[in-house]
Amino acid sequence: MKPVEQSFVAWAKMRARRLPQVKLGIGDDAAVLACNGSDMVITTDSMMEGVHFESAQVDARRIGRKLVAVNLSDLAAMAAEPTAIFLSFCLPLGDEMDTESLAAEIYEGVCEMAERFGVAIAGGDTNCWRGPLVVNMTAVGRTVDDIVWTRSGAQPDDLIVVTGKLGGSLLGKHLDFLPRVELARQIRGAIEIHAAMDISDGLSVDLLRMCDASSCGAILELERVPIAEAAQQLASTSGKLPVEHALGDGEDFELLLAVPTAELSALQQLVGAEQAIACGTFTSRTGLWSKEGGKIRQLTSSGYVHGR
Ligand SMILES: [Mg+2]
Repeated sequence: MKPVEQSFVAWAKMRARRLPQVKLGIGDDAAVLACNGSDMVITTDSMMEGVHFESAQVDARRIGRKLVAVNLSDLAAMAAEPTAIFLSFCLPLGDEMDTESLAAEIYEGVCEMAERFGVAIAGGDTNCWRGPLVVNMTAVGRTVDDIVWTRSGAQPDDLIVVTGKLGGSLLGKHLDFLPRVELARQIRGAIEIHAAMDISDGLSVDLLRMCDASSCGAILELERVPIAEAAQQLASTSGKLPVEHALGDGEDFELLLAVPTAELSALQQLVGAEQAIACGTFTSRTGLWSKEGGKIRQLTSSGYVHGR
């Protein structure tokens, strides 16, 4: 998120009227609305030509798949069970056949993911305009057994746990990832999770957001941060360290969890050690810190590692 987007969201959160039907409003991965039975969990995301993809370079079906994946990732981050999705298009005006086949290709990608995750495509909106392709999705889920993971429950001494390797998603993973819906389903109810979010902007930025929401800080142990093959590959030409890619690239869409120390081995037994990697600790001292070779330094939120 750009600073202007962030400050607008902060203002919008303050400006919005608080009503009792909203249990959790602006500022988390999704909103929670009070409902009889289980609560509703709702999130929305847009993707734009030139910002999130270049449609000349990317198969339109992948755009559709990614749009579903980023939305379901936010629901997984809240431990919600996905129910339905709504798809809206702003299609570029041009040759009618081209416009229609573009929409159909995107829709095929959406259908593929909807089937895979058992969600209904329940509506949407289609428009054409003299502008680039914009797609938006709203995803609706429900809570199970009243469990909702938020960003704000991390406590000092909780472990920082991520559900997979990070970095280098630009090389392809950002378009083809699978949201951690099944993993969230396995963990919720079985393991005590103090806080959760998905890693969309990079581990360091998102961890700092979790710390801010939870009024605590965190120490990342750089040697323990799981680094994706693609991050190593990128580092060979980017002039950055692989760990900097892992901390700063973003679009990993793994889950970031605050896990009580006593729960880690049960979590690892449940989902496998490679899907529950502890790489640091939350602290009462606020801010983001890195620990490497016993030395603790302040970490920038972009993931730049000082003094190397
Ligand atoms: Mg998110």
